Amino acid sequence: MLHSSFPQCQRRESFLYRSDSDYDLSPKTVSRISSMASEGHTAEDFIVTPFAQSVVLLNILNSCFRGVCVCVLDQQYQQLTLETLAELDWCLDQLETIQTHRSVSDMASSKFKRMLNRELSHLSEMSRSGNQVSEYISTTFLDQNEMEIPSPTLKEKPMSHISGVRKLSHTHSLGSTPLPRFGVSTEHEDTLVEVMEDLDKWKFNIFRVAELSNNQPLSCIMYSIFQERDLLKTFRIPVDTLVSYVMTLEDHYHSNVAYHNSLHAADVTQSIHVLLSTPALDAVFTDLEVLAALFAAAIHDVDHPGVSNQFLINTNSELALMYNDESVLENHHLAVGFKLLHQDSCDIFQNLSKRQRQSLRKLVIDMVLATDMSKHMTLLADLKTMVETKKVTSSGVLLLDHYTERIQVLRNMMHCADLSNPTKPLELYRQWTQRIMEEFFRQGDKERERGMEISAMCDRHTASVEKSQVGFIDYIVHPLWETWGDLVHPDAQEILDTLEENRDWYQNTVPQSPSPPPVQDKGQPDRFQEGDTEDREREGHSERNRRRRLGEKGIQSEREKDRAPKSEGSCICDDRTPGLVGSI
Ligand SMILES: [Zn+2]
Repeated sequence: MLHSSFPQCQRRESFLYRSDSDYDLSPKTVSRISSMASEGHTAEDFIVTPFAQSVVLLNILNSCFRGVCVCVLDQQYQQLTLETLAELDWCLDQLETIQTHRSVSDMASSKFKRMLNRELSHLSEMSRSGNQVSEYISTTFLDQNEMEIPSPTLKEKPMSHISGVRKLSHTHSLGSTPLPRFGVSTEHEDTLVEVMEDLDKWKFNIFRVAELSNNQPLSCIMYSIFQERDLLKTFRIPVDTLVSYVMTLEDHYHSNVAYHNSLHAADVTQSIHVLLSTPALDAVFTDLEVLAALFAAAIHDVDHPGVSNQFLINTNSELALMYNDESVLENHHLAVGFKLLHQDSCDIFQNLSKRQRQSLRKLVIDMVLATDMSKHMTLLADLKTMVETKKVTSSGVLLLDHYTERIQVLRNMMHCADLSNPTKPLELYRQWTQRIMEEFFRQGDKERERGMEISAMCDRHTASVEKSQVGFIDYIVHPLWETWGDLVHPDAQEILDTLEENRDWYQNTVPQSPSPPPVQDKGQPDRFQEGDTEDREREGHSERNRRRRLGEKGIQSEREKDRAPKSEGSCICDDRTPGLVGSI
């Protein structure tokens, strides 16, 4: 840790070595070290970085106490002191073997990665499907920088130049007609009112909102939440500007993408709305931070093409080129989300001060970049470190004094909301699962067509969907939500209970036979906007569908008895099979 090559004699020193009183950078440590160390200039005199200062100070304390304890203290305290010193030795040993470029967060995250890798290697040894699940988790959630030789350049629509942005006009004139209650015109407003009563609840049914709002769930949700939170008044957002922006934003989600469409964005936004209101975080965030979190959730997947970052990288796509392979999609979502503010009557932040706009932009960028699943372990490690050192007020509210602490919680909140499908009521969760699997399978189809290696979980003929769901919960979702639960304890208990029930349900639904016949299930591009699992009859599947429905009824009634049944060895790609849910 300490270098003997520190300058020992007089020399010109840079400002880094300036005397302590000029700055507020732990001057006390410096002076104590100086006075406690032996006379003259020693290496310790030149230590300026806080981490090294702490290590040196601990070393000095260690040697001082060692001398004191043996002669002065009585036997009882001697024993205690010796034990404590042994622990201190261990701590120092840990500290001194840390590579200096690695932060506390890196240490925790690499420890967790090591642990997860051990779990995954065990999982992959168990079966072929376990191997696939393990590969999916490690390629998606661990930042491993695996290099593959890219296949020939994709000649699809070019996406650089923030290409997703289209000229659309949604300006709403307030003059003639009054705005509908939820910002969107619908003939089902009365029914919508009933569904929207649950807006503040975790069990909120966003699929119903899509059905009742002419498939504009994101516009409806954003408008309603902004109204409920009084953000239009606080930030002087003109109501017609809000409507124009949310509709333009919604139009830039692809309705023919199975999972990452505006319904998912609406779901994440509503989930953030609920998480922001959790009692442990009461009054922790500023109005601007709340605005930023909701805005970030709303834009966080805009213009998603339905394929993963790795696919874009492997196919030399324009987007990967544009963003140098780093968080390609997340950077693009941000660029599009902000660029849309420039469209006619869309600048919902027009009345914010320059400073507010700058802070908001920084917050939003930070939060949306946190939705890159390859950052999962870092986020989790940070959250865990925060939980282990958490400070709460006497009323149980978290004490987050610094910006870095608050943004860290917001980042994780966004990540949790993005991975919240398995924590929702089973009926909703299963619909999400079906959608993400269809998106994965379509990517797998593209990979097959191009002669590329098919990504883990993307081959509709071999994917082991139920098992993957269990693995996804065990290794990713549960550790994350459990840690979130610790942070806001006891607020998230219900969420954790639902997650556990859902996990058990999937565990009990794992097919007995691992080799089902392949099914050609192309689906219809826009059927996922219908949001209904029941009316998906397809030719040649009616018998299977009939059995499936019977099975589902059985499952529902069994679930009421708190026990899920084994499925009847169903086909892996049929509509009732769950899949891995998460942004890719
Ligand atoms: Zn997402």
